Amino acid sequence: MIKFINLIQEKAEEIAALDIVNGDKLFTIFKLIDMATASRTLRYYAGAADKIHRIVLKLSKGLQGYTLREPIGVVGSIIPRNFQTVMFRGGSRNFNLTAPALDAGCTIILKSAEQTHFSALYYVHLAKLAGVPDGVLNVANEYGHTTGAAISSHMDIDKVTFTGSIEVGRKIMMAATASNLKPMSLELGGKLPLLIFDHADIDQATYIAFRGMFFNKGEHCVESSRVFVQEEREDRRSYIVSRGNRVGQEGYYIEPTIFVDVKDDMTITKEEIFGPVMSLMKFKTLEEAIKRANNTTYGLAARIITKNLNVANSVSRSIRASVIWINFYTVFDVDCPCREYKMNGFERNYGLEALNQHLQTKFSLVLDLISVNGIIST
Ligand code: NAD
Ligand code: MN
Repeated sequence: MIKFINLIQEKAEEIAALDIVNGDKLFTIFKLIDMATASRTLRYYAGAADKIHRIVLKLSKGLQGYTLREPIGVVGSIIPRNFQTVMFRGGSRNFNLTAPALDAGCTIILKSAEQTHFSALYYVHLAKLAGVPDGVLNVANEYGHTTGAAISSHMDIDKVTFTGSIEVGRKIMMAATASNLKPMSLELGGKLPLLIFDHADIDQATYIAFRGMFFNKGEHCVESSRVFVQEEREDRRSYIVSRGNRVGQEGYYIEPTIFVDVKDDMTITKEEIFGPVMSLMKFKTLEEAIKRANNTTYGLAARIITKNLNVANSVSRSIRASVIWINFYTVFDVDCPCREYKMNGFERNYGLEALNQHLQTKFSLVLDLISVNGIIST
């Protein structure tokens, strides 16, 4: 693993070029965020690989036992198009991809997204140069409805980890259920609330609202596309950036767009858009803010901007989401386990708990001398 990481670092420029050409990434942002996050995660799990311990058990009836922790087996990993490097290596929230699975001793078949597959191929090449044996880390650059579906329903794949949309997550879960009942971890799309409370600093609020939404062209799962502003504050808004004009004649590009006077039950407020589109709404009281922030099927994360500690504490306890950022836009830490809420998925992200999800515990029993002699007390 360490050799693999060192090779990746040597080739950082090439990898950046691949993701920029293939994924429309910005060079500086890629190096600062995607590359750095992914490398930290790889190092964390590489360090954990020789610290997988077993427990010696003191059983009733004078018997001895211990646990064995074995790799879960073949892991099928299906990743989305927006953070191909982070997802491949197991960064971002995705404990479940290459790093912890490899360290647990699993073999992996990874299906990259059909739109962004250059770097995945290069990573397997580097893994081979680093001495990862053939067959341990495999990449398929194919479509979801063919290869993705085949992985989900395969009888010899022991676990599926998926990051992507709720719609596809549901299909994968159904395929797993209809085949070998393989366990899975799902990390699905987002529709985060950002609550801006009165007395918040306007420059800070604008910055966080901007970064929280328009980073990576709005193509990220932790986008705060539902912005709630406490009434007085909203009147001073200075951050309407455009009215959704189309950019260019080819493809589907729009300017960063903010909708005002939006209602909670409108489709744009309820469904993930996965593009640079924000809805701006007003609220009056703390209770109302919490209720409306929670009025969603998603539970990935939330952002709060306030100078009031009581507000920060009660909102962070009342919002049903796995990460709450207070006066900050986005930060994850590889040593900080969390679990997604509601329809955003399940299983642990990050930390050693993530590694554990690629291991299964077996209980072994050793008969001691007394029991061999047949004197087991009951
Ligand atoms: P997507 O769901 O369209 O595709 C994801 C992957 O699933 C691709 O590799 C695709 O080929 C595959 N797939 C498609 N149909 C399939 C099928 N029937 N069976 C098996 N696999 C199939 O997502 P996308 O457009 O690549 O990425 C955007 C989505 O990913 C957004 O919803 C975003 O929020 C989500 N996302 C979530 C997280 C998170 O950590 N929660 C992180 C990044 C992205
Ligand atoms: Mn898609």
